[in-house]
Amino acid sequence: SRVAHAEGLSGALHDFLGRLVLRSRVRREHERMTENVAQADKLAALGTLVAGIGHEINNPLSAISLSIEAARRVLLPLLQTAWELDRASRNGQGLSPPELARIAQTLRAGKRALDGDRLLDDMSTATAQIADVVADLRVFARSDPEELPVLVDVPAVVDQAVRLVGRDLARKAVIERDFPDDLPVLAVPRSRIAQVLTNLLVNAAHAIAEVERPMHRVRITARADAQFVAISVSDTGPGIPPDMIERVFDPFYTTKPQDSGTGLGLSISRSILRRMGGDLVAESVLGEGATFVC
Ligand code: ADP
Repeated sequence: SRVAHAEGLSGALHDFLGRLVLRSRVRREHERMTENVAQADKLAALGTLVAGIGHEINNPLSAISLSIEAARRVLLPLLQTAWELDRASRNGQGLSPPELARIAQTLRAGKRALDGDRLLDDMSTATAQIADVVADLRVFARSDPEELPVLVDVPAVVDQAVRLVGRDLARKAVIERDFPDDLPVLAVPRSRIAQVLTNLLVNAAHAIAEVERPMHRVRITARADAQFVAISVSDTGPGIPPDMIERVFDPFYTTKPQDSGTGLGLSISRSILRRMGGDLVAESVLGEGATFVC
């Protein structure tokens, strides 16, 4: 019966190990699904950003093409003049006084137009703007499976999120920032925190679009105590009814039309923050606006 006992034991052990393997497989599956949902949500967020980004890139692009046209108008006569001077010096005939006067005038006009390299400055400012948009977008391109924490400067990451969403937002609302000087840096995965902030700002932009007001305000604040940093994003949108204040965090809860809302933003944002040991909560005075604090 010792043998039977050993067999029973090994059977139980076998079952136990089997369950372990199964559980770890289920957990891996779960992790992969969570990761996929996070990716899907990034895509959804990206979708809502695309129109705004097109706008952001279009403005500097038209500045660049206007500057190229202007540069062409200035540079072509100068090239033509150089060519005429070269020809005159090579055939030894020299230039007539009217020709000389015209050339002098072209040179003076060209010098004036190029003074201070204004056209080139405009072009490099505009290309830098496009480069900024592209750099900000990389946050979404990275999948960051390990989510390694790095030291994150809160005002800098807020600025990054505001640049992505905020240029569009800035046309509709005053954006206020309120950060204490001695705000500590956070040790968190940068792209995740940027994703959460972007999400909250996209929601704020949607919220303010729902109400007519003489002036809308989106306010981003940060406060720190010995242990935590609290970041809040407030808007002057319609607010959230008290009985919905928790439901907004439910996956797939959305009041938006199908093409602009997935209902995943807040649930994913909350789970990202909880994984970091934080949380995301909502406060609202119905009719006045909403505040999300993380
Ligand atoms: P989605 O934005 O795709 O709908 P979210 O999870 O981000 O998904 O938001 C869920 C719902 O919560 C929104 O559809 C909206 O009804 C509500 N909500 C989110 N942010 C705000 C806000 N700033 N003001 C008012 N309602 C909000």
